[in-house]
Amino acid sequence: MLGGGLARSPPASAGGFYSDEMRRSAVTVRMGFASGEARIRRMTKRLWIETVGCQMNVLDSELVVAALRRHGWEMARTTAEADAVFYNTCSVRQHAEDKVYSALGRIRLEKQQRPGLVVGVLGCMAQKDQELVRKRAPWVDLVVGPGQLHRVPGLVDDVLAGGGPRLEVSLDRTGGSREAIAQSFESYDPDRDPQMRPTPFQAFIRTQTGCDKFCAFCVVPHVRGPEQARAPATIVAEARKLVAEGCREITLIGQTVNSYRWKDGGTTTRLADLLVLLDAIDGLDRIKFVTNYPRDMTDDLIAAVRDLPKVSYYLHVPAQHGSDAVLTRMKRGYSIGEYMEMLGRLREAIPHAAVTSDFIVGFCGETDAEFQTALDLVRTADFKSSFIFKYSPRPGTKAFDRQPDDVPETVKKERNQALEEAQAAVSLAGNLRFIGTRQQVLVEGISVREERRQGEQATSPESLAQLKGRTMCDRIVVFDAPLRLVGRLVDVDIQAAGAWSLAGDVADGLADAVPLEHLLQNGGADAPPTLYDIDLTAASSSGRAGTTQTGATPADTTAGA
Ligand code: SF4
Repeated sequence: MLGGGLARSPPASAGGFYSDEMRRSAVTVRMGFASGEARIRRMTKRLWIETVGCQMNVLDSELVVAALRRHGWEMARTTAEADAVFYNTCSVRQHAEDKVYSALGRIRLEKQQRPGLVVGVLGCMAQKDQELVRKRAPWVDLVVGPGQLHRVPGLVDDVLAGGGPRLEVSLDRTGGSREAIAQSFESYDPDRDPQMRPTPFQAFIRTQTGCDKFCAFCVVPHVRGPEQARAPATIVAEARKLVAEGCREITLIGQTVNSYRWKDGGTTTRLADLLVLLDAIDGLDRIKFVTNYPRDMTDDLIAAVRDLPKVSYYLHVPAQHGSDAVLTRMKRGYSIGEYMEMLGRLREAIPHAAVTSDFIVGFCGETDAEFQTALDLVRTADFKSSFIFKYSPRPGTKAFDRQPDDVPETVKKERNQALEEAQAAVSLAGNLRFIGTRQQVLVEGISVREERRQGEQATSPESLAQLKGRTMCDRIVVFDAPLRLVGRLVDVDIQAAGAWSLAGDVADGLADAVPLEHLLQNGGADAPPTLYDIDLTAASSSGRAGTTQTGATPADTTAGA
């Protein structure tokens, strides 16, 4: 029931409910329901969830969907057939928030026609804006911050039972002791729903939540709370379970993943130690981790990437700028000299490493000369790619409070374009070096071009299609091959290169493809039957029925660090 104020429960720290704890795409993927599901569909509640932002949000959506499925919910194919529509939101840039408020404006019409529809705003924007969400969109029933997502099933039930709108958020960073604030950001990683993953054979695993770095421009420490690591045993157990379900590649995610530290008595486990434990898991082929904070790129971690065969040598280490003065204003905690020293150590140990960066242009007070240093860095650092953003002031951050947003929008746009053009030239040069090499590729699905060509048509596994996959260094490769190769590791001979992708031919007549049966055997009897029921055309994209991921700009996929 709408109207009235939001009912706010005590923070989870006060009572406690659970004591344990970007691929970028705007495509909606629809999957067929199993026949049994179709029969009971009308008797159950249906959810539509739209995810904006980074991998952390994608994983959060996966967990929310899994929790609701355990409460008998199914995924809706459209908002029109949904009983609840959720927006899992991002606050890193104003643009992402604007998208959510636009979507809320659209869903208002459906809510007017179907007052029983539950509309929810989840995630970072909910934590940041709190009551403001309902001031701007009074038809919203649920406002739930990222530290309270485990409560969503109960909250939806409350709303459906006529309990009125609900607000569940964690404490502000100034709202109590560090311990109390940390407890109010209860993260949870229960069993997830394999159908929500970008693909059935790739999954994210959270290593930690929150961030304590407080860069001047960044809202993450405020909306995601203090940095809190998960126990290594929990992470390894989750990885083993995912592998048993058929997962071949895991990506460890944390806002500053390489800051990972878990203390147990006198023993400290760091990310390098965690990678050793994960590398030993049979059936797992690839391990990635994002996002890295430059000062925590330690020698032991670099050695682990160099020495562990399953660890991808793709490293996202955002520099953010090339000027010491700007880095100081950003409160990044390092100089450009220190960044270059880190890059030198990394490249010396792993010459073939693919390093990527984020850049912010037009940050407060950025002069032409300062911008030139960012341009120089992009031209010389040989980044595989860079995710480039115009500065967007975020309420609650130090920059918002203390530094004027004084670079005109037109100048921001020009600098953004200049940096993108410089990076495109560097990326093309880097990719051209791959022509004539043979790369092992994990086949993720059909390419965007093939997706447009095929639309929603069902296609036989033997049909030839343009597929896409990624190398160990995270380069995208497209090639023509049968659809049955989706989810397998194949060798591809690279024949051509563009700035953002490679193209080639599958080597040796597909002889190196791992049979799907092998995956099924790895899955064992406990593997969920739905996992391999997925239409291969659907397996190529980044969503599932009732879910979209929108508004994810390249760096949204790696928001953090
Ligand atoms: S930019 Fe990264 S390191 Fe800095 S506060 Fe945000 S999440 Fe933390």
